[in-house]
Amino acid sequence: MTITPLMPVYPRCGVRPVRGEGCYLIGERGERYLDFAAGIAVNALGHGHPTLVKAIADQAATLMHVSNLYGSPQGESLAQRIVDMSFADTVFFTNSGVEAIECAIKTARRYHDVNGNPERYKLITFKNAFHGRSLGAISATDQPKMRDGFEPLLPGFDYAKFNDLEGALALIDGETAGFLVETVQGEGGMTAGTPEFIQGLRKACDEHGLLLILDEIQCGYGRTGKMWAYEHYGITPDIMTVAKGIGGGFPLGACLATEEAAKGMVIGTHGSTYGGNPLAMAAGEAVLDVMQEPGFLDHVTKMGDRLRAAFEQLIPNYDHLFEEIRGKGLMLGIKMKEPAVSRDFVAHLRDNHGLLTVAAGENVFRVLPPLIIEENHISACIERLSEGARTYSTATATA
Ligand SMILES: *Cc1c(COP(=O)(O)O)cnc(C)c1O
Repeated sequence: MTITPLMPVYPRCGVRPVRGEGCYLIGERGERYLDFAAGIAVNALGHGHPTLVKAIADQAATLMHVSNLYGSPQGESLAQRIVDMSFADTVFFTNSGVEAIECAIKTARRYHDVNGNPERYKLITFKNAFHGRSLGAISATDQPKMRDGFEPLLPGFDYAKFNDLEGALALIDGETAGFLVETVQGEGGMTAGTPEFIQGLRKACDEHGLLLILDEIQCGYGRTGKMWAYEHYGITPDIMTVAKGIGGGFPLGACLATEEAAKGMVIGTHGSTYGGNPLAMAAGEAVLDVMQEPGFLDHVTKMGDRLRAAFEQLIPNYDHLFEEIRGKGLMLGIKMKEPAVSRDFVAHLRDNHGLLTVAAGENVFRVLPPLIIEENHISACIERLSEGARTYSTATATA
C-alpha cells in the first residue's frame, strides 16, 4: 500500500505544529514560526487566546452538543448579536465556510422559487473565485484546478471577470438569480473589489430584482479593519457568508440574510446536525466579546496601515522580486515578479526564515496575521521578509 492514512490531497510541508502561543507556532522539534498565515485568516485572536480558551473549556464541561430539534438559547444569543451588528435579519450557523456557501445558494434559489420565478436559478460568479470545495462551490468558480475530474458539476453558474462590471451585467438574463462574489478575493490573488464594481452589482440587483450574495468568509469578521468588508463600499448585501475568523479557530461558519432574501427558508428546507451547537456558539461569543472591545477594529486598521507602509518601504529595495501590494487592513498580498514564484518564496520564508505566509493565485503571497498583532510582530515580519528577499535573490542569482 502506498497511499497514506491521511488522504493525500494536500502538499503538506515540513512544518509540523504542535503548539501555538499568540502570534507564534511551535513545531515538533521546538522550532518557532512567526505565524502571519493564521490558519489562513482563521486564528483572528492568535493562538491560545485566554478568553476563547476559557469559553470553550467551560462550555465543553457544561454542554457540548444537542440536536437542532431543541431550543437553542446559545444560538439565539449569538445570532442576535450578529443581526444587531450587520445588515442581516437572520443567521444559519454552519461548521465551515463551504457549508455557508451551500446555504447561500439554496437561499437564493428558494427565494425566486417562492416568488413564483423558479426559472431564476442561475448565479453570476467570478473568475478566479474561491468559494470552497463542495460540488456547489466548485461549480461557482471557473478555476480548473478545483473542478477538473469532478464533472458533471452543478448547473446554474455563469462566470464574469472580477472587477468588470460591464461584463457581469452583460450576463444577466431571465434565468439569473443574483451575483455571488467575494468582496475582496482571497485565494484568487487578494484583489479588492473596486467601489464601482461592488456598488454597480448592488445597483443592478435592485434594478433587476436579483440577490447580491457576498462571500466574506475570508475578508469579513474584522480582517479588513471593518467588521464586514462591505462597509468599505457603503452598500449592504442580501445574503452573506462568513466563516474563518468567526470562531477564531473553532470550526464555525454562518449564512446571513435579510428577512426578504430568506423568505423561502422555512421549516424543513435546510439543516445541519452540528450547525450552531453550544460549543461552537461559545467560541463565537468569545471571539465577538474580544472584537467588540473598544478599539479592536481601530487596532486592525492601524496595524494594517503600518504593515502596508513597511511593505511599501521594502519593495523598492527588491523591485526585481516584488511588484505591488494588494488587499485591505490585515488582509494583504504581495504580487511577485516573474521569474520569482510566490509559492517558492512562501516556502523559502517558512523554511529558512521562520515566517509563515500563504500562496495565492496571480503569483501573490498572502500576509494574514492574527488581528491582535503588535508593532513588535510587524518589525519581526519585516526583518524576516527582507532577510528572506535578500537570501532569495542571492539564491536565484546564483542558480
Ligand atoms: C476559505 C474560503 C471558503 C471555504 O471555506 P471552508 O471553511 O474551507 O469550507 C470559501 N470562500 C472563501 C472566500 C474562502 O476564503
